[in-house]
Amino acid sequence: MKISVKFCPNCGSMNIKWVNPQMWSIWRCWDCGYQGAVVVEDKEIADEIRKYYLKRIENEGNGFSEDK
Ligand SMILES: [Zn+2]
Repeated sequence: MKISVKFCPNCGSMNIKWVNPQMWSIWRCWDCGYQGAVVVEDKEIADEIRKYYLKRIENEGNGFSEDK
C-alpha cells in the first residue's frame, strides 16, 4: 500500500493543509507560510528542499527556530 504524503515545495515540511475544503486545490504550509497549488509528493525531494531551506534560514539569521 502506497501512502501519499504531501510536502511543501518551499520548505519541505509535511505540515501543509488545504486552505479550506471549498478550495481544495490550494495548499498552505503552516511552517513557512507558503500558499499555492504546487506540492511535492516525493520524500527524497522534500528532504533536499528541507535541507536547503534550513540552511537558508540559518544564513539569514532571522531567528526562526522550530526545534528546541
Ligand atoms: Zn513550507
